[in-house]
Parts: sequence; C-alpha cells; structure tokens
Amino acid sequence: MPNIDLHLHTLYSDGALEVEALLKLALSKNLSCVSITDHDTFDAYATAPEIAESLGVELISGIEISSVNNGRDVHILGYFCDIQNAELRATLEIQREKRKDRVRAIIEKLCGIGVSLSYKQVEEQCFGASISRPHIAFALMQAGYVNSFQEAFERYLKEGAIAYCPPKGISSEDAVFLIKKAGGLAVMAHPEYTNADELIPKLAECGIAGLEVYNYKTAKSVKKYKKIAEKYGLVATGGSDFHGGSGLIGMQNLPYSIVEELKARLGS
Ligand code: AMP
Ligand code: MN
Ligand code: MN
Ligand code: MN
Repeated sequence: MPNIDLHLHTLYSDGALEVEALLKLALSKNLSCVSITDHDTFDAYATAPEIAESLGVELISGIEISSVNNGRDVHILGYFCDIQNAELRATLEIQREKRKDRVRAIIEKLCGIGVSLSYKQVEEQCFGASISRPHIAFALMQAGYVNSFQEAFERYLKEGAIAYCPPKGISSEDAVFLIKKAGGLAVMAHPEYTNADELIPKLAECGIAGLEVYNYKTAKSVKKYKKIAEKYGLVATGGSDFHGGSGLIGMQNLPYSIVEELKARLGS
C-alpha cells in the first residue's frame, strides 16, 4: 500500500531540495500523497502542482506558519488552504519580513560576542524569501565558526543559547483563524518538540482540526499525543518534517486514511 507524508520542506524555506527532486524522491519512497509545508511561504506552489500531477503524486496544499505563544515558537500547519487567499498571502509576507528582522537581531548578538557574520553572508545561504535560523547555521559553518549544523544550534541558535532571539509572528490562535478563513484545516505541528501542551485545548476551541501525532519522535510520544488527539476530537496527522540530507522522508509508513479523515473535515 502506498503511504503519505504531510510535512516536507523545499529550498523555498530551509529544506535542501528543489520541488521536482523532492517529489521524485517521495515517489521513489512509495508515497502517493504528500504536502509541502514550507515555513511561511507558498513559493514552492508556483511549480509543485504541475510537477506533482505529471508524476502522479497527490499534492495537498500546505504551509507551516511560525506563530508565537508566550514568546515561544509554535508551528501551525495549514492544509487545503486557498493559496491565493489575499489575507493569508499578506500575513505570510509580513511574517517573512519579521523573519528578516529576527535574523538581523541574531547577527547583532553574534557580532557582540565576536562571531562576525553579515546579513549578506546569511542571505547567500537562503534560496527563497523565507530566511531562518538554519541559514545562519550554514553561514556559521561556511565562515568556520562551527564544524556542524547541529553545533551552530547548540552553541548559538537554539532557545536559551547565547545568540537566541525570540521569534516574532502572529499568535497561534490567529494562525488557526487565518488558515480557517482561507478554507483550510489547521494542525498543531510536532507537539512534543513544541512542548506547549497547555495550548492544545485552546487551539481545539479555536477549531484546530488535527495534531501532528506522528512525527520524528518516539513511540512514547505517539501514544501520549494520540490520546490527547482523541480527547479533543482531533485527527492524528503525521509527517517526517523532511528538510533533506539524511531525513527520513516517508519512513513512518502513514496510511492514506489520515488524508481521508482530514478531507471529511473540510467545509465543516
Ligand atoms: P526559525 O524558523 O528561524 O525559527 O528556524 C526554525 C527551523 O530551524 C526549524 O524548522 C528547524 O528546521 C530548525 N531547528 C530548530 N531548532 C533546531 C535545533 N535545536 N537543531 C537543529 N535544527 C533546528
Ligand atoms: Mn525548518
Ligand atoms: Mn516546525
Ligand atoms: Mn517543518
């Protein structure tokens, strides 16, 4: 049976692959249905629908919105949105501008501790408009300040690290409303990694449709979030959060019934 993967990144945000290479890889992994969910951008969708159709892969429109709750990142996935929706597009554009401000603030902090990077050096690592911390990590590697991507996050970029700056973006509740107004379904991404369980009932009240129960985490977390999804009547969705490299695209063997459950919620 073919499988699905509803959480993939391209180089239009912080992934490594172009759309065609990503969709061909998905096909080779026996995936019949995928969603590209770049951070705050639909740029991949300029070509993705046509490429997906020619390959015979079902593509669900997707986005991963960086929302903020209590000063921390909460990623909200949006599926089946009208990607031409004016309010959604305008908000995403503002989000991408805020990303640039945050990157500048991080660079300033880095310079303050003698780690000298320019905005241009970071921008050179970024193919699209959605600049983010991974691009700073690559620039730090390029400049020889760290030996690996992970070291850049550990030493400088992760929450609590020396050059960390809090995210700037819309509230998690507003992200849900925005997705719904664009005709889509909102799903809270990777809840274990996000570590904001207290927000789940609030988002359920706002009309979130699902919880990303199956991501790259452990069987223990799957069990825990499956139970929470059941409690609040949410679809247990999943995806690999593939960014390229050695990512485990399609490795979770998720069934198409997840997509059917989501589709049943459209328009309600
Ligand atoms: P940003 O959107 O600028 O906050 O960057 C977030 C992205 O950075 C995530 O989507 C991941 O791809 C990556 N990321 C976040 N935290 C870490 C971490 N601790 N280690 C490696 N990558 C991370
Ligand atoms: Mn990412
Ligand atoms: Mn995420
Ligand atoms: Mn992601």
